[in-house]
Amino acid sequence: MKHCIRLPDETYEFIKGEVAFILKKCNIRCIPVSGFEIATKLKMKLRPYSALDTIQKAAAMKISSDGFFIESDEGEYIIFYNDDKSYARINMTLLHEIGHCVLDHGVSAFGNTDIEEAEAKFFAKYIAAPPPLIDKINPTSVDDVADWFCLSWEASYIAFNYFKKWKSVRRHRDAKDYELIIENLFVSNNNIRKRLTSYHESLQT
Ligand SMILES: [Zn+2]
Repeated sequence: MKHCIRLPDETYEFIKGEVAFILKKCNIRCIPVSGFEIATKLKMKLRPYSALDTIQKAAAMKISSDGFFIESDEGEYIIFYNDDKSYARINMTLLHEIGHCVLDHGVSAFGNTDIEEAEAKFFAKYIAAPPPLIDKINPTSVDDVADWFCLSWEASYIAFNYFKKWKSVRRHRDAKDYELIIENLFVSNNNIRKRLTSYHESLQT
């Protein structure tokens, strides 16, 4: 993965707005945020590397060991992802590729510019664990973020620090529009917990 460049503040604000728009459009109301669910709701096709034949898989690995997307002749977006990776990593890959699609970047199979990479990376980081949602679980450690948002330890560490920075600023300003949209989708702490509890209960019955 390339080292990320710093984008203009307006770009970060724009991407946060796009994240809120996508969460709302896909009616995502509980965590962890799933790249599989969002891709499916956006009518993108998903293809694991394990479904490819040997030659195709070698070609896919040459493009990226994580994943990439292409646009078919019919205008369909198809995301290819390496399903040998951990769930947390696969989910981040899907969110990253969804970011490239949503932000109207060129198909990543042909390579993206450093700016496009930085934008998609930020999109994935923000949608996987938006600070207004991290706030709802009231985390005391990186592990809390990892547990609730199903992120790798490294991604949780970055998200937790980003959250703490956000929290210190958020106290002194009003909520942004995109923050209100995200907060309203996840109505309350109870809402998130109840949904997760009922999900776990449904697994047990
Ligand atoms: Zn990319």
